[in-house]
Amino acid sequence: MNLSSIPRRKYSYGPTPIERLNNLSEYLDGPNIFIKRDDLLGLTGGGNKTRKLEFLVADALKNNADTLITCGAVQSNHCRLTLSAAKKEQLDCRLVLEERVTDSYNLNANGNNFLFNLLDAGGITVVPGGSDMMKEMEKVADQVRSEGKSPYIIPGGGSNEIGATGYVACAQEIMMQMFENSLDIDYIVTTSGSAGTHAGLLVGMEGNNHHIPLVGISVNKEKNIQEENVYNLVKRTSDYLNVSNRIDKKSVNVFDNYVGPGYSLPTDSMKEAISLLAQKEGILLDPVYTGKTMAGFIDLTRQGYFKKGDNILFIHTGGSPALFDYTSLFQ
Ligand SMILES: *Cc1c(COP(=O)(O)O)cnc(C)c1O
Repeated sequence: MNLSSIPRRKYSYGPTPIERLNNLSEYLDGPNIFIKRDDLLGLTGGGNKTRKLEFLVADALKNNADTLITCGAVQSNHCRLTLSAAKKEQLDCRLVLEERVTDSYNLNANGNNFLFNLLDAGGITVVPGGSDMMKEMEKVADQVRSEGKSPYIIPGGGSNEIGATGYVACAQEIMMQMFENSLDIDYIVTTSGSAGTHAGLLVGMEGNNHHIPLVGISVNKEKNIQEENVYNLVKRTSDYLNVSNRIDKKSVNVFDNYVGPGYSLPTDSMKEAISLLAQKEGILLDPVYTGKTMAGFIDLTRQGYFKKGDNILFIHTGGSPALFDYTSLFQ
């Protein structure tokens, strides 16, 4: 699979490190745990959306857009990174924020909210939970056009076939690192949210005949719905990249029992996972995505799903800026 013909901007330099988590591996007394540090990607604060935006913003520029429009939850990492890419490219940016939790938007909140203000978002529209976000973004696009400007809409989480291509590229980067370091990975563990990361990794691995089982941990949706979402995006991304291998629906695997009371709402196991990673490894996770994903990984390890001697690659998709809006949880 050759991605070199697809327009791409460059926001990170070199592959993100794969580190072995010696202390956590010893503490859990289970598999050998490795972590892919996508929290160290470029743009403000790093995280998985940076990889997607390399392809999405390149497409926006190809289409002569001058204003990026995107959407997310009130503490959206994706909105932070889209805004950051816009600043770097000297594009305007408008955000539509969904209050998935009632009254959760607070202009003066910390974390990503603070960064929306610091980076100076050109306009923020807040809409109630359950709104049709594409429709809301279309309204903003009409407004932008009426100002004589040219909008480009990036879907929530940057998760269409263009954004998912960022994680196809990541899968290829991982394969190269495995080869260079003589590392055999038995499972890859990733968050499964708007599905671009999960789908892109799967297309990148399976499309290159690399059949490493991928374990997706849902942070929002129920298993069957999430697997369907991921598979749909796998098909769209494979078509977009002309992948000839047929990717089996059975390779889409999601666990949905670590969501807790709902998207972005705290769980005890998330708190445990965040504290553990901080105290054993000095690595910051986030409360919405990687904290719950790590909680899932730890629980699956304790249940014996992963065996001693297995090599696990945990994808650290970033998000730690959001932690600073949850400090009271840890006091
Ligand atoms: C968006 C996000 C995810 C989920 O990735 P998707 O591609 O939306 O499934 C995971 N972790 C962090 C920190 C994120 O911001």
